[in-house]
Amino acid sequence: MSNTHNWKTLVEHRHALAESPVWDTERKRLLWVDILTGEIYSYIPGENKHNIFKTGQLTGAIALRENGGLVAALEHGFYFIDLENKSCTPVADPERHLPQNRFNDGKCDPAGRFWAGTMPKEGSENSGKLYMLNTDGSFSVKIDRVGCSNGMGWSPDHRTFYYIDTLSRQIMAYAYCAGTGDISGGRVVVEILASEGYPDGMCVDEQGMLWVAIWGGSKVCRFDPLSGNRLDQIDLPVSQVSSCCFGGQNLNDLYITSARQGLSDAKLQEQPLAGSIFVVSNLKYKGLSSFSYKG
Ligand code: CA
Repeated sequence: MSNTHNWKTLVEHRHALAESPVWDTERKRLLWVDILTGEIYSYIPGENKHNIFKTGQLTGAIALRENGGLVAALEHGFYFIDLENKSCTPVADPERHLPQNRFNDGKCDPAGRFWAGTMPKEGSENSGKLYMLNTDGSFSVKIDRVGCSNGMGWSPDHRTFYYIDTLSRQIMAYAYCAGTGDISGGRVVVEILASEGYPDGMCVDEQGMLWVAIWGGSKVCRFDPLSGNRLDQIDLPVSQVSSCCFGGQNLNDLYITSARQGLSDAKLQEQPLAGSIFVVSNLKYKGLSSFSYKG
């Protein structure tokens, strides 16, 4: 597939494992995490500087809270984070009994609940789960026996939930009910070949197409979840592409996170931009605003 998309890097910093990019429409800023260093970054395009908040633990994912601040999935469970007052308040710890696991990717659903999944820190056992944090602080298990819980997204009509267990190499679609948060009837919509890498983080555009970061595959692909066809592709100069989200004034800039994790010294020499945050500006596609946590 020919590639005519030009990327730029956002900041000089090379992350160990950048993830969970979120565009904050109200404050016109991009947020993301470095999972391994436990840092949350905020960056206002045009100001050319970023702020860092250290959570003090592995930091899987963040989402905006409607009342301000963030909800986060950290190594030790769900937290509320206030970047201004630099505070971290525990909400619930679903896997207190599983210290070998950590939280990974997460996102809010159209009804303002926070979904986030877990994975083993080492190995490839299916000991992860996908959780849903309700707006009252209670939680439930949505999917059991997950290898590496990763990308998620909702269709523009809010009737379908898309989900990636990276180790399965599959992008799944479930019928979703916004009222209850129930999901049912999982089916495979796209399968990534072993030769291409692993599907990782994901976002959905205005037309309902899926933008999937390919870990170990140096690209982000745009898929039609109805046909399974690949419609477009953004090639990047780094192999460990971890996630993406739309942002910017018109929601037509795609922000892409990447990592140094899993690369040998020789590979890092070949990929000096590994761990960068990339942006592809003024795409002909437009994203959807991210949902915020309503609790
Ligand atoms: Ca990920």
